Amino acid sequence: MDGTEVAVRAVESVGPDAVALVLEAPATFEARPGQFVQVGATVGGEQVTRHYTLSSPDAEETFEVTVEVDPEGSLSPYLADLESGDTVAVAGPFGDAYYEGEDGVVVLAGGPGVGPAVGIGERALDENASATVVYEDDAPIHEERLTALADAGATVAITDDVSDENVLEVLADAQGQLFVYGFADFLDRATAALDAAGVDAGDAKTESFGPAPE
Ligand SMILES: Cc1cc2nc3c(=O)[nH]c(=O)nc-3n(C[C@H](O)[C@H](O)[C@H](O)COP(=O)(O)OP(=O)(O)OC[C@H]3O[C@@H](n4cnc5c(N)ncnc54)[C@H](O)[C@@H]3O)c2cc1C
Repeated sequence: MDGTEVAVRAVESVGPDAVALVLEAPATFEARPGQFVQVGATVGGEQVTRHYTLSSPDAEETFEVTVEVDPEGSLSPYLADLESGDTVAVAGPFGDAYYEGEDGVVVLAGGPGVGPAVGIGERALDENASATVVYEDDAPIHEERLTALADAGATVAITDDVSDENVLEVLADAQGQLFVYGFADFLDRATAALDAAGVDAGDAKTESFGPAPE
């Protein structure tokens, strides 16, 4: 792949089957929370590349991606087993669904979409903007950072159903730029929830992680 070899600085568990991978930022790398990179490595003799979204509030010197591990997958288990000092190839950043200094953010995240949700939420609070995070997962991750966001003044709703009535109330009250991140089936559920809450999803910044794994 076209890309830069960068060092792994840390691999930390952030919940069941999920790691935060901290990577050295390539020279002249300018990325915003919500953008994604292509990560490549040689696994079992074959070059494998996959996309991962920034989960850190910035990308100065280092940046972080959050990887949900699919035990049947090619790259995610390999990434979870890396250690500080190993290297991977990185290309990017890519994507235009990122935080651009808006006064308020409302991030809907499904599964590994919680990565950009925490990164954007933290960056927004750093810039004195308001932040609402709605996160759907059967086995939530990043609980420490979500709790810290709530303690710092963000509205955080964690649910196993984005169309739950309590979530719809949060969405109806929330103010700010909409962001939606997750696999395609979550994007459909999030759009339906916004519709049910009477929120216009027309200008939402959305990134699909592709078809949901089986
Ligand atoms: C823009 C974008 C951003 C993303 N951001 C993130 C992120 O921040 N965090 C994150 O965790 N993920 C993210 N993803 C998803 C990520 O890129 C990978 O798809 C994911 O990590 C799985 O990769 P893998 O190599 O581990 O699994 P894969 O090898 O791709 O396999 C995934 C699943 O499909 C099954 N499978 C593979 N091939 C077949 C086949 N031929 N037939 C049937 N089943 C098959 C496997 O058994 C496995 O269960 C993003 C994707 C995109 C497109």
